Amino acid sequence: MSETSGPNASINDCEDCLAPAEAFSVVANETRLAILEALWQAPERPVSFSDLRREVDMRDSAQFNYHLQQLTDHFVVQTDAGYDFRQAGKNVVQAVLAGSFNQRPHVDPIDLDEECTACGATLRASYRDETLGVECLDCGKSHGRYPFPPGGLNDRTDDEVMEAFNQRVRHLHCLAADGVCHECNGKMDTTITHDAEDLLELQVRVDHRCQQCHHQLYSAVGLSLLDESEVVTFHRDHGVDLCTKPYWALGWCVSDEFTTVLSEDPWKIQVTIPLDDERLRVTLDGDLAVLDTERVAGTAAADATAEPST
Ligand SMILES: [Zn+2]
Ligand SMILES: [Zn+2]
Repeated sequence: MSETSGPNASINDCEDCLAPAEAFSVVANETRLAILEALWQAPERPVSFSDLRREVDMRDSAQFNYHLQQLTDHFVVQTDAGYDFRQAGKNVVQAVLAGSFNQRPHVDPIDLDEECTACGATLRASYRDETLGVECLDCGKSHGRYPFPPGGLNDRTDDEVMEAFNQRVRHLHCLAADGVCHECNGKMDTTITHDAEDLLELQVRVDHRCQQCHHQLYSAVGLSLLDESEVVTFHRDHGVDLCTKPYWALGWCVSDEFTTVLSEDPWKIQVTIPLDDERLRVTLDGDLAVLDTERVAGTAAADATAEPST
């Protein structure tokens, strides 16, 4: 990356890089994509010129060589032992495998076993515009809609798609909270928003925004707690494996009903997780770092009367 890059850099700013339009034009060719795919499929790399040509099945050696040279040095590197990937070449293959460029899949809605955290009715997952979302069929409450590249739908049953989606959502938010954009690896900012009711019906909400590509991710505060050791232990003590539990089945992950703002400057937020006859109170700061946890006896109803959610 050249020094011109930064939060306000344009995608055309990098002086040492191939211009994006030029890079796309280089790979916008069936033979060149076939060469990259053959490299990807090869049991071992580097791959010799003749092996690569045989895999791509092109008789005309000169023509094959022409296309291979177009990919060298930006996407492919030539060594004494043959041809290997540069990272940009791998990225092209991965983007094609992820399916964003060429797949427009239709997926039938999936009825889920879990119930709406607000009204108890059936939840349904639907796929559109490369995002998967979980919504209540009755009250319409959104239980989150997040990016899910079409490649994730291949070779998976409905149950497996939902399992993969659950894991992906957890990891997207984990990465974002750690300051890394999953789209471009840029710096991700985390802010708490209070009194904004427009997104996900949350008055208290976590907003992650990438400084570089401006990708945004929203969630309830509780969603950031799924990997927190005290929270995991609390659930294990009550016979719940939080690693495999779908996040949309957990009210404190998809609504702010269990969230109390203790202070706004500095941010101090409490998420109260009810389970059987016990509650876990988790206090977080504005960066979603856990400040304190406390187990208290009693049901959620008792807590709600004593401390109405703000
Ligand atoms: Zn509902
Ligand atoms: Zn980004």
